Amino acid sequence: METIFTKIIKGEIPCYKIAEDNRFFAFLDINPLAEGHTLVIPKKPIDYIFDLNDEDLADMMVFAKKVALAIKKIIPCQRIGVAVVGLEVPHAHIHLVPINDVYDIDFKKEKLKLSPQRFQEIASLISVEF
Ligand code: AMP
Repeated sequence: METIFTKIIKGEIPCYKIAEDNRFFAFLDINPLAEGHTLVIPKKPIDYIFDLNDEDLADMMVFAKKVALAIKKIIPCQRIGVAVVGLEVPHAHIHLVPINDVYDIDFKKEKLKLSPQRFQEIASLISVEF
């Protein structure tokens, strides 16, 4: 199914890209809970994360781990929180959110407003660490 995320993978919609390989893609969430809030997605257009086969699910988590380690090098925080929600975009994705407190990963909280320059700067810094 064509979604906003499949368009991002194909480069039809711009994003602040962090990393990709032949099966997975990572980019900054456009409505971040924190600086460095990143989405990791499979290139396969599957809606629900638990419909991925076991190998893809496991490998996506390993890819997300590499991204999380890169985020942690750039964004000062206690942990990289991990969440799967998936109620808005019907393409499987893992949220990676720098956190110091459980409240930092509350999806009802007001999102940050960052300038395009700041998004780009964060994406560039993290992607170098990947
Ligand atoms: P959910 O499906 O509930 O996990 O939420 C989808 C997430 O995707 C939200 O945090 C949105 O801010 C994010 N999002 C939606 N469109 C874009 C986009 N074009 N670029 C980056 N992030 C996006």
